[in-house]
Amino acid sequence: MIRLEHIGIAVADLEKSNALFEDLLGESPYKMEVVESEHVKTSFFKVGESKIELLEATDPSSAIAKYLEKNREGIHHLAFEVEDIEAEMQRLAQKGYRLLNEKPKRGADNKLVCFIHPKSANGVLLELCQEIRE
Ligand code: ZN
Repeated sequence: MIRLEHIGIAVADLEKSNALFEDLLGESPYKMEVVESEHVKTSFFKVGESKIELLEATDPSSAIAKYLEKNREGIHHLAFEVEDIEAEMQRLAQKGYRLLNEKPKRGADNKLVCFIHPKSANGVLLELCQEIRE
């Protein structure tokens, strides 16, 4: 894996949280994006080499809505950048890690992504992400 690419934070109100993180980090989000397939609205902040992704649910079927039913707002996932997501998925699946999707899917911020179940990772939801190069 290349690096910790971003930390995903589940929020109830993206607008409020954008203002909060803008204040904390001294920077505006460089991108806001709706990911229809995931039913989320996201915003991204750059902090040096890493990023913070804020995620708000756009409807009750969203994983973020379900997460916020059971948990408070807070750290939702850690995302690791990988060179070759298919190879990495295969490597982890062979070792018995539980992947949440069988094929890489298109995530926010121009990435292919795959999630690893928290039960396989000490209670932490992990994301693998690979930049889409076209
Ligand atoms: Zn993410």
